[in-house]
Amino acid sequence: MASDAPGLLEARGIEREFRMGPARIRVLRGADLALQAGQIAAIMGPSGSGKSTLLHILGTLDRPDGGSVRIEGVDVFGLAAPALAAFRNQRIGFVFQLHHLLPEFTAEENVMMPGLIARRARARARDRARELLAEVGLAERAEHKPAELSGGEQQRVALARGLFAGPGLVLADEPTGNLDADNARSLHDLMYTLARRHR
Ligand code: ADP
Ligand code: MG
Repeated sequence: MASDAPGLLEARGIEREFRMGPARIRVLRGADLALQAGQIAAIMGPSGSGKSTLLHILGTLDRPDGGSVRIEGVDVFGLAAPALAAFRNQRIGFVFQLHHLLPEFTAEENVMMPGLIARRARARARDRARELLAEVGLAERAEHKPAELSGGEQQRVALARGLFAGPGLVLADEPTGNLDADNARSLHDLMYTLARRHR
């Protein structure tokens, strides 16, 4: 059935270049990408081809030099900075290769951090964090700090944190890049399972 509903993500004509002294590197030259809700897409290319640059722009962490990004129908770069920050916090989840977990905080506190930043009620944020840790198979590890967890477990905590706000869009930049083959495969499987369940 045809639908006029906006897609989850529509990126059109994305341009991005970097200046290195006198040289200019055109990294993105009119990149287009469209995704529907529930869809999973992988962006593949050699190191230095611009994957991270594109993901940062899709995640609104960086601005393109040209082109537009609509997420859930919202022209994100048309938003003023505070509205964009709120949109990013509520609608976009991130999982990076280096998980950026905060070492001083437990797994549970790391997962609920987006809720604390958004000034959500602490008890509800804690419940939600526990729920998500159970979903990624780490219910028993809630009180552990990142250094007490394996690399694969740390990445699952990062995945739970990325899902905290119930984002419409989750962006993962080489989330398995630091994992061995077995852990990488199980994180992939988990991401597919969660994408279906949270659709
Ligand atoms: P990938 O993630 O595919 O490995 P990147 O998006 O990180 O590639 O980088 C693409 C190109 O852009 C590389 O040549 C990189 O050196 C360059 N680049 C990325 N970010 C910057 C920046 N902030 N300043 C200058 N050059 C950059
Ligand atoms: Mg990269």
